[in-house]
Amino acid sequence: MSPVIPLRPEAAACTDKPVLRERGQREVFCGLTGIIWLHRKIQDAFFLVVGSRTCAHLLQSAAGVMIFAEPRFATAIIDERDLAGLADANEELDRVVQRLLERRPEIKLLFLVGSCPSEVIKLDLSRAAARLSGRFSPAVRVLNYSGSGIETTFTQGEDACLASLVPQLPERERGAQPDPLLVVGTLADVVEDQFQRLFEQLGVPVQFFPPRRALALPAIGPDTRYLLAQPFLADTARALEARGATRLPAPFPLGVEGTSAWLGAAAAAFGVQPERLAQVVCAPVERARAALARQRALLEGRSIFFFPDSQLEIPLARFLSREMGMRLTEVGTPYLHRPHLAEELALLPAEAQLSEGQHVEHQLDRCLAQQPDIVVCGLGLANPLEARGLTTKWAIELVFTPIQGYEQAGDLAELFSRPLNRRLRLAA
Ligand code: SF4
Repeated sequence: MSPVIPLRPEAAACTDKPVLRERGQREVFCGLTGIIWLHRKIQDAFFLVVGSRTCAHLLQSAAGVMIFAEPRFATAIIDERDLAGLADANEELDRVVQRLLERRPEIKLLFLVGSCPSEVIKLDLSRAAARLSGRFSPAVRVLNYSGSGIETTFTQGEDACLASLVPQLPERERGAQPDPLLVVGTLADVVEDQFQRLFEQLGVPVQFFPPRRALALPAIGPDTRYLLAQPFLADTARALEARGATRLPAPFPLGVEGTSAWLGAAAAAFGVQPERLAQVVCAPVERARAALARQRALLEGRSIFFFPDSQLEIPLARFLSREMGMRLTEVGTPYLHRPHLAEELALLPAEAQLSEGQHVEHQLDRCLAQQPDIVVCGLGLANPLEARGLTTKWAIELVFTPIQGYEQAGDLAELFSRPLNRRLRLAA
């Protein structure tokens, strides 16, 4: 069997398929959630949410597993006095930041993260960040972005964070050597290390953004080519392109096909021969195929319905349909960024009903009418759907778990087979 994957195009794909666009009540986390994985990634950064007790509770419950570690995020609570305009929120914020930086000298990068309450009182966090940066740089750089539920959903928090960091990237000098490839989007360290090794074997110099250390920001310039590792980074991509960088179009590195095509896009751009690519990926491809074969037995022929949540839905649906043989019913996504998803849509069978945005009542009706074997949805919908006899998968797990690359392909498939397996056992 060939280790390099000539992508089999879909006879009828979703490229130009009409999308059901809905607006109404939605059931999605806000962009603050991204702090959970971003603070693990950039190890000397701190995320100070300027928000309410609700924001603090959201972060605490989403990050519940880390209560024993000294966290690198916190919430500066906006209380009634701030909301009533009785206190100077800027002065209070300056005091909180001063105390924080005195107590935590290891912080090199501080994000002030906006929330619904900070927007309601129109607290200008960009001015606050500029003021505080002036005071604390060069020891600490202070940036801001919004994670508010008014402006962002779930994974858009990472997009807003990275977009705020792009202007800080140093300018790259033009040299004899090609600019390293820039891989953009947070990947678990274990996944990043695997990709780093594969790129090294291919002879492709690579940098990752965001970096693990705030001072290790990659330099970029007009010759920089970048590869998105996540499908939800529209603003970050725009900011990189404004600095002259060029995106390499590719599917996302989920499953064997996606990972091979993603690596293949970089290899082609850096002049790596297809034979060399085949040689490098041969062993991991075989391991991934073996792991997938074990899961396919349970998933093949089963139907799946995606509620819009993380923007990973389309690449996941492509993987589950093409490599696991699942039947797609509806594939919902909060936003459909066609240019970034063009390669994915060309691989997605036309049987899928694509939907963008959400009117949760209408979508629940469609889901219940279709009775899919498994539903991917947010935490708020999972219990009611389980109570109606449907098997669910929490979308948040797909963001918190390392799922990219060959070595994780089996784990990714298992995230879907496990709930089905559990339901089958309960029914037996
Ligand atoms: S930012 Fe808004 S939506 Fe998010 S937790 Fe705070 S109040 Fe809720």
